[in-house]
Parts: sequence; C-alpha cells; structure tokens
Amino acid sequence: MKEVHEMKIIDRVALITGGGQGIGKAIALTFALEGAKIAVNDISINEVKALETVEELRKLGVEAELFLADVSQEDAVNNMVVKVIERFGRVDILVNNAGINRDGLLHKGNLAKWEAVMAVNLKGPFICTKAVLPSMREQGYGRIVNLSSLTARIGIFGTGYYATSKAGLIGLTKVTAVENVTKGITCNALAPGYINTDMMNKYPEDQLKVLISKIPVGRFAEPKEVADAALFLAADSSSYITGAVLDINGGLYI
Ligand code: NAD
Repeated sequence: MKEVHEMKIIDRVALITGGGQGIGKAIALTFALEGAKIAVNDISINEVKALETVEELRKLGVEAELFLADVSQEDAVNNMVVKVIERFGRVDILVNNAGINRDGLLHKGNLAKWEAVMAVNLKGPFICTKAVLPSMREQGYGRIVNLSSLTARIGIFGTGYYATSKAGLIGLTKVTAVENVTKGITCNALAPGYINTDMMNKYPEDQLKVLISKIPVGRFAEPKEVADAALFLAADSSSYITGAVLDINGGLYI
C-alpha cells in the first residue's frame, strides 16, 4: 500500500535547536519519520547526546547533521545557518526548542538567573528567527514553531524568570507571524504543560506527585505528544494557521 503522509513535510529542511535530547529530539525523530531532512542544533556540552540523536535519525534513512552553536550567541547562530544552507540548500522549518529553566522567587530576585534564562529562552529564538528569515522570505516559504510554556499562560509559583521568557516568546511569535504573513511564512507557539524530560526529572519525587495530582489527565505528557503538535504546525497543510498558541497540558489550563 502507498504510504500516506497527511502532515506533509517530505524533503523539507528542519533546523531544530536543542535537538539533542528531550522534546527537541522527539520533534527531530517525528519530522524524520515524515521524510524531513534534519539539522540538529545543540550546545557543545551536549555533543555526545546530540551525535547519538543524529545517528538515530540517519538509521531512519533521512539526511541528518549536527550543528553545534549556543543559540544566545549571534555570530555562532549566523554561522550555523550559513552552514545548514550550504549542507541542505535551504531552511524550511525552524523549531526554537532550546531552553533552560532556573526557578526562584522574584522577591529574592537573582539577576544572574534572569539573564541566563532570557539569553537562551528569549534572545535565542530572536537570534535564530532573525538568522533564517531572509532566506525564508526569499524562497516564499517558512514554518517557525516556538516552544513556549504553560507558565506563560498561568502564574506558577517560583517560575518568574522562566515564565517571563516564555511569555515574551509568545509576543515574538505573534510579531514574527504578522510581519511575514505575506511571504508564505507562518509562526506559531506551543505551550506545553508538564512533559517527561530531564527538565522535569530534576524535581524531587514528592513534588512531582503533587504536580501530577493537579493534572486532569493524571500524568505528565510524553515528548512525542508535543512533537506531534509541532509536526502539525510545521506541515505544509498548516498554511492558514499563524500567530497561534497551542496548549498541550492535559486539561491543566483550559
Ligand atoms: P531539555 O533540558 O531536556 O532539553 C533542552 C535542550 O536544549 C538540550 O539538548 C540542551 O543541551 C539544549 N540547550 C540548552 N541551552 C542551549 C543553548 N544555549 N543553545 C543550544 N541548545 C541549548 O528540555 P526539554 O524538556 O526537552 O525542553 C525543550 C523545550 O520545551 C524548552 O524550550 C522548554 O522550556 C520547553 N518546555 C518544556 C516543558 C517540560 O515540561 N519539559 C514544558 C514546557 C515547555
């Protein structure tokens, strides 16, 4: 029987930041299974895991390459995008997935944490978006998917730095959408709740149990459940959806 790819991204070139593990890796594998070519970005300290991800992608029979760069460093990102275009000929899809989390109460404000989180979670997507937009605008096609968070939608205790960065990312999403809508480019955000990755696994067991007890679905999501939503927004067929924020939270915020 002929294979049917309803979410069409065959031969599209996807650059996925922080693609070495967690949600980014799940997105890379999901896109690859639909026939996309994958540029995996990650930082050098995560090179080993990122190379493993690239190997897994190649085993699926798709073209995949690792591009090490810190998304908060403009020169490194610009250089990376040049190399991705040299290797694959174009960038069709950018997933701004790389992110970090630092908890802390705002009244005890820690500027170093604030700056670290803003650099990766907000400045990073701005730099990456800016780097891919000229070629996307020229080719008249682009899909940008930004990983925001439930924390941008509701006030969650102790998440001040992270939540502010992820709310800012929704602003970036909407303006990117409106400024590029006539160029065949869409830009949307995902707002995941609690997902089973290293980012969550650092919390103690009893704290995780309390969190799970508050989720109507009764569990954390698997990274693949976020990746499927990313696929939907990255597909050719989502051409009429732009500037949207898609919640993926098991009913925690409706
Ligand atoms: P993770 O910590 O498992 O993976 C993050 C990846 O980003 C890693 O590969 C890491 O090396 C990379 N990275 C970190 N800093 C980087 C930098 N400066 N440049 C390039 N790469 C960098 O996290 P995850 O849970 O997979 O989260 C992925 C995204 O989803 C993040 O933006 C996160 O904020 C968001 N998110 C996660 C959850 C969750 O519950 N896990 C919920 C909502 C949103």
